Amino acid sequence: MGQEPEGLDQGKGRGLVFILSAPSGAGKTTLIRRVLEELPGLRFSVSYTTRPPRANEREGVDYHFVTPEVFRKMIEGDQFLEWAEVLGHYYGTARIQEEALREEGIDLILDIDPQGARQAKAKLRNAVLIFVLPPSLEVLRERLVGRGLDSHETIQFRLAHAKEDLKEAHWYDHLLVNDRIEDAVKRLKSIMVEERRKKEDPYGESHGGRLLERGGEPV
Ligand code: ADP
Ligand code: 5GP
Repeated sequence: MGQEPEGLDQGKGRGLVFILSAPSGAGKTTLIRRVLEELPGLRFSVSYTTRPPRANEREGVDYHFVTPEVFRKMIEGDQFLEWAEVLGHYYGTARIQEEALREEGIDLILDIDPQGARQAKAKLRNAVLIFVLPPSLEVLRERLVGRGLDSHETIQFRLAHAKEDLKEAHWYDHLLVNDRIEDAVKRLKSIMVEERRKKEDPYGESHGGRLLERGGEPV
């Protein structure tokens, strides 16, 4: 039996930034809530948005709810790692100090759309991109209806937008089909633990590139 790299079994983060995207209703919020409960060393990145809060949402927990004016000032002050307009509202992630996260033993989880994921991927060294897929568009529609948050028109709008989002899935590092919730949670956790493990392996993908860049030969 190989020994667990130190810290892995204690669930320490490695300064990784897990980026999850999915069409609305695919189950991203549900999956994120579950891994936050079950995987230590993980923190949710609370985004800024100009969208009004939904009934069950709390300031500073689900989002920082701000006015368009405040959001614009934050853009001008270069305070965002990424931002985008999604379904008529603005959303953005504040800048991330990857070094500080690693020192704290924390990984971050971001729930952002593909436009934002592309910007974050270009800027971060430790990004891991995961796209969550519904089993089918019909199941997606059922979940949106079942969630009971949106009108018929909004659901039609979200479904049309979902088809656009799905075209972006191919450039993500991992695809995760949210079929049975327990299976999907298990697979998401194993992707995350595996990515943490790669950080411990000097010949692993995540280190190999950089070692080769420095010396030309793996060290
Ligand atoms: P998102 O954050 O991607 O918009 P949610 O997490 O709000 O999606 O999920 C949408 C709806 O589907 C919710 O009512 C949720 O309880 C339900 N749901 C999520 N995952 C599953 C699943 N694997 N099976 C059945 N229902 C699910
Ligand atoms: P909702 O309004 O349903 O919470 O989110 C709508 C969409 O905005 C989802 O696709 C979600 O991933 C995305 N989103 C949430 N926060 C951010 C963010 O900070 N940046 C970007 N680019 N998208 C975000």
